[in-house]
Amino acid sequence: MLHPELDQFVELAGRHDFAVALSSNLVRMPEPGWFLRPNLYMVSISMSGFSDETYAINHRGGSFSRVTANVKRLAESIGTTGLPTKLELRFHVYRYNANELPEARAFCRDWGIRFQPYYGSFGSVEGFRTFFDTGTSEQAQRFRDYVREHVFIERVARNSLAGRSIQVCPQEQVLTIDWDGSVLTCCALWEEPGGRPRIWEADLAKYAAQRTQNEVCHQCMSKGWAADINTFVGPEEALGVHETSGSERQNKPLESDEDVDSAGHG
Ligand code: SF4
Repeated sequence: MLHPELDQFVELAGRHDFAVALSSNLVRMPEPGWFLRPNLYMVSISMSGFSDETYAINHRGGSFSRVTANVKRLAESIGTTGLPTKLELRFHVYRYNANELPEARAFCRDWGIRFQPYYGSFGSVEGFRTFFDTGTSEQAQRFRDYVREHVFIERVARNSLAGRSIQVCPQEQVLTIDWDGSVLTCCALWEEPGGRPRIWEADLAKYAAQRTQNEVCHQCMSKGWAADINTFVGPEEALGVHETSGSERQNKPLESDEDVDSAGHG
């Protein structure tokens, strides 16, 4: 939402007949009229708390009341313009905010927002590595303590805990491009193993063939991390609802017994 040319990116995509989805925490939001366009089909909002107290745990510097005011303002602007843009709230469920699910769901119902809760995970490939490796640094210990305190580990790391490897990562079906045009191995990896070629410079056929042929991806797939990273696990049972669509459930890698979404973590 903060890129100074966001409006032009959306328009450019529209001129080439692409629909656009934006993902944001809406901590800051420019005037909606600046970026709302007919080809913007979705704004996906990430949130991991539905009160001042819980929101502050994972959104340092953010304000729950300001974010909800931004969400309402955006919903009202979309309603005023009559554009088809949908809003979605991706509620990251941790032990400290699970009791807020009903309130968050009611808010979404009141404002015509699609409610999409799923269990928050380790944040990245590096997070999986830090948690499962045997490193003893203070930082690693702190991270493990944080995970054990807040994350539903048994829900989001079932493949990793069981050491179930996969041969092909679902990320290979997705082309991930960062805000500056650089092509990323995946959205869950911070340290790029092969550099960050810009999309206008990259040999995409070569890139696609070699994308996961690196040490990080091999480890990620062999340890089961890639299976968990590419699997959304929703707390539908706790809510007594089921709000996921069939198209979002494709690429389900290894799970078959529970409500699981597979789409890649944002
Ligand atoms: S194997 Fe892991 S690091 Fe590589 S693309 Fe898949 S999820 Fe990302």
